[in-house]
Formats: sequence, structure tokens, C-alpha cells
Amino acid sequence: MQISKKQLDQVNDRIRALIASDSFYGKKLEEAGITEVKSPEEFEQLPFSEKRDLRDAYPLGLMTAPEDEIVRIHSSSGTTGTPVIIPYTAKDVDDWGEMFRRCYEVAGITKKDRIQITPGYGLWTAGIGFQNGCEKLGAMAIPMGPGNTEKQLEMMINLESTVLCSTSSYALLLTEEIEKRGIKDKIHLKKGVIGSERWSDKMRDRISNGLGIELYDIYGLTEIYGPGIGINCEYNTGMHIWDDYLYLEIIDPHTGKTVPDGEWGEIVITTLVKEGAPLIRYRTHDLSRIIPGKCPCGRDYPRIDAIKGRTDDMMKIKGVNVFPSQIEEILAGFSEISSEYQIRISHLDGKDTMRIYVETNGSVDFEGLAKQIAERVKSKIGFTPIVKVVEIGVLPRSMKKTARVIDERFD
Ligand code: ZN
Repeated sequence: MQISKKQLDQVNDRIRALIASDSFYGKKLEEAGITEVKSPEEFEQLPFSEKRDLRDAYPLGLMTAPEDEIVRIHSSSGTTGTPVIIPYTAKDVDDWGEMFRRCYEVAGITKKDRIQITPGYGLWTAGIGFQNGCEKLGAMAIPMGPGNTEKQLEMMINLESTVLCSTSSYALLLTEEIEKRGIKDKIHLKKGVIGSERWSDKMRDRISNGLGIELYDIYGLTEIYGPGIGINCEYNTGMHIWDDYLYLEIIDPHTGKTVPDGEWGEIVITTLVKEGAPLIRYRTHDLSRIIPGKCPCGRDYPRIDAIKGRTDDMMKIKGVNVFPSQIEEILAGFSEISSEYQIRISHLDGKDTMRIYVETNGSVDFEGLAKQIAERVKSKIGFTPIVKVVEIGVLPRSMKKTARVIDERFD
């Protein structure tokens, strides 16, 4: 996939706007002597933008449109340090809504649907993004926000919600709660639009079968509008990305070079028409790949695979590079265990150790199962973890993102 002539023109237009506004990136481009890019090769020479730069621009250094055109800001939560503030013009909000409307449409959701929105509202882009798209589509939004499972279920039943928007963790929690209460026949859900975290096929099947609904993965990040910049279609062959708004590249996270279509690497995104805070070659640290060829649905929008993890999730245990998704794939091969697991990395007796916690029901030989899992990890990845098997329900469930990898080495 190469940047098109039209997309190059759009990038040049954004470069001019950045420089004219004298914003954070405008200054950087000016210092680097960049005024335009003439070819795809030149585009690939443009410097990357990074989250730490965005933090340096705090509070409003990214603002590229005149302030009287800025209608709102959003902020990424930022688990560490300074938050990132992204200003939006009315057109940015509208463009984002249009992308999200498209996502719902691709998922087969119509204005007749009732959409229960459980992601949070506020500074971050989650709830309001789902809401914006829903209103643009003309469906009925039920803006619940997170938490209060009692009220969620009550509204879900009484308002006959047909679509659930949530994180995968919260969808699982609701699935288990609905089963526990035996109220599945009172639920009218048909589809789930799930965003914001990596999840396993096992968890997907658990939610899909438990609620009897079709599930769609939505992609997005606060720095680039928010959720809604891509979604999988009915053929479930990866997520279509709206390339009339964004240009997406996959790079080798170590060398920074673009990799051929089909190869795994880090997603890098350029906004083509964003006014409030345009970003050029923004490193997302999300791992995926471009899926070559055309989707059977006939849509021309390029596709990326489900997010495999984060470049910074990579763990090094006893000299072996490990991604949480590799452990997840191995665990998926054991039908006796639930979809929940926890990985703890610690530093014991001068070496790094991985402990894996998994859940099963009481009828299984815990020790035998632990041994089998440890052996499978050893043979597939090359080191032996400590595996602990616990009863179903012992590992934490959460309303937002569940922390599955806990690194205790630096505590
Ligand atoms: Zn498709």
C-alpha cells in the first residue's frame, strides 16, 4: 500500500497549515526545513511524531487551527506523567462522527437500533465518540457510561437495547452477570461493538455465545480523533480503515522502515484532513499488519489485522522475547480453562520469572494441568514459566480494561 497522489496533496496541505500556525509540529517541520513532500519516498523520510512530543506540547501546543475555531478538547488519560490534549474544530468533530457512523453502518446497525453506550464520558474520547456516531446514524443512544451493572441490566431489559458498545472486559462481566441471573431471554441485544483493548478469540467466543450476538472490533486512539477510525465487516477479515481521512503505514518498530503489506509491525498514522491537531506519521505502538488483497465485501478501504499487542508489551524472559498474545494463543489450546488469565513478571533470585495464573472448574486436576501448560510454553516459546491454576471467578474482572500483564520487576 503506497500513499496516493491525492493523499500526498492532503499531507502537503496539512504541512502548510502546521507551519502557518506556528504550532508545536509546525515549528519542528520548519526547523527540519520541510515545506512539502513530492513523492511517496519523500513522505517516508518525514520524521515520526511520538507520544512524548505530544506531552511536551502540553497544554495547547498542538493547536493548529485558530482558537475561535476550536470547539472542544479531549485528553488521553496518560497512566504516567503529563496528559496529552487534542483540540478539535467543528469539522474534526463532524468528520469523526461520519467515520463512526460508517462503522455502525458496516456492522449492519441502522437508525432503528437502540445503542447502549457503556464506555466513559468525559475528557477521553470513548463514550462521546460512540454517541456522536450513533446520533449521526440516527439511532437511539442510551448513554449509560461505565459501571453500575444493576442499572445497566435494568435499562438493557426495559429499553430493549439492541446494540452493546463496551470494552471486551465489561462485555464479559455483563455476559457472566446475565447468565448468573438467568435473564438471557429478557435481553434483546443483537450486536456488540467492542473497542479499546486487545482480546483473545476465546474471550470473543465466550461473549458472542453467551449473549448470542455478533461482535465487531472498533479501532481508534485519542490522538487520532478517538474510536471509530476502523471496524471489521461481516466477513471478519480484519478492520477496514477510513483512508479518505487517514493514511496508515506499518513499520518495523526497531528500524523505523516501512514493511511490506502482510508483515507485522507498528501502526503509524497520518491524519489527512484534521484541522485542530493534525499529526504526521504518528507512532501508535500498536502491533498489526496490513491485510493484502481485496475484502470479499467489495469495500475498497484497506484492512488491518486485529491488534496483536503493543510494542512496549514485549517482555524479555530469560533472553527470550515474548508477547502476551503468544501466551494467550497457547492458553487458547486448553479447553479446560476460562478466557481469563494473568501474567506476572518478577525478579527472583537474580533472574526474571514469569508466573501465569489461569482459571478452571473444580473437576480438573490443577497440578497436572499446570504442568501441561508450563511444558507447552517451554516447547513453543523456549522457557518454563510457573503456572498456577485457580478456581473460576478468582481472577479480577473489571469494568474498564483488565490488566492481564503485571510487571513487578520495577516495583
Ligand atoms: Zn470487508
